[in-house]
Parts: sequence; structure tokens; C-alpha cells
Amino acid sequence: MRHEPNVYTLPAELVQQPGNLPAHCSRHGNEAVKRVDFALQSKVEIEGNRALSGNVLSTTDRLGQRAKKVRVTNVKGWPLCRECVRFRAFWLTIALVMFAGGLLAFAGSLLVGIVADTSTVQAFAGVAIVGFVVMIASAFPFHRAGMARLVGAATSADGQSIVIVRPSPAFAAELPRP
Ligand SMILES: [Zn+2]
Repeated sequence: MRHEPNVYTLPAELVQQPGNLPAHCSRHGNEAVKRVDFALQSKVEIEGNRALSGNVLSTTDRLGQRAKKVRVTNVKGWPLCRECVRFRAFWLTIALVMFAGGLLAFAGSLLVGIVADTSTVQAFAGVAIVGFVVMIASAFPFHRAGMARLVGAATSADGQSIVIVRPSPAFAAELPRP
């Protein structure tokens, strides 16, 4: 099914059954070395006036709206090539190292704070802050490693299909035709 150039949609029930997806990856068009299952979310446009949404109550309301509107497709057997696998492993490793390193620096500094004298505690306060920031910042490489970003797909707003943007020609050629 083709709606506009380079955007393909597939029925959700099709991708939730293993064995219906191409043998080449959607990003590079290389032969798949691995098949993965993952949950693919829909992108959500939050309604409401942002200027009026400053208070906690409406923020909670917006989060509630978001939870209600996110549709998830449990994709089965998505093809990943060697490069896809390497890309994902690379960014996951960075995220993990940043998170673990940040946590260690943060928790370690707190421990030092309990046992050390005042001047040492001051020196370690900076380490604790840096550790905390690095820990939070690990969300960025983690996001880069995410399947949705890697494969260039999302679940449609109504949850009935998945939308693949600019897949590789090899992947697109093997998509099932209605
Ligand atoms: Zn690939």
C-alpha cells in the first residue's frame, strides 16, 4: 500500500504475525542476520493549549491523554542486518556506560559525603552533580538505539497499521502487496 512517496503502511495484524516481513533490513537494505520482536508506539500529538497548561493538574491531564492515545503494535520478526545490530549495540553500550558511570559517581560521592571531612565533601559535591547529569543524559544515546528510530517506523495514530518512512528499496520491494 502506497500513500505518498517513500511512506509505506502495513496492517498491524500482519506485522504482529512472525514471518510476514522482508528478508532485508529497512534502513540499509542488507540481508537480515537477526529477527527481533519489539513494541512499536504511535506518535502522539497532545491536544490543548500549551500556554494554559502550566499547572500540575493539566500536566497530569495531558499525561493521561497521552497514555490513552498511544497505540502499541507488537512487531514480530523485524529484520536487522549486521550494520543495524552493530549500530544498536554501539549506542546501547554508550547509554549503559553513561548510566552506570553516572550512577557510580553519584552514589560514590554520597558515600564519601557520609564518611569524609568537610573539604573532601565539597570536592565530591561537584562529582555527584556531574554523575547525576551524565546519568540523565544517557537517555539520549538510549533513544538513538531505540528500535523505532533505527527502523524508521511508527504505529499509526489509530493503531490499525504501522507506517514506515523511507525504507530501503530492498525492504520495500519485499513488502506484501494488498
Ligand atoms: Zn540494516
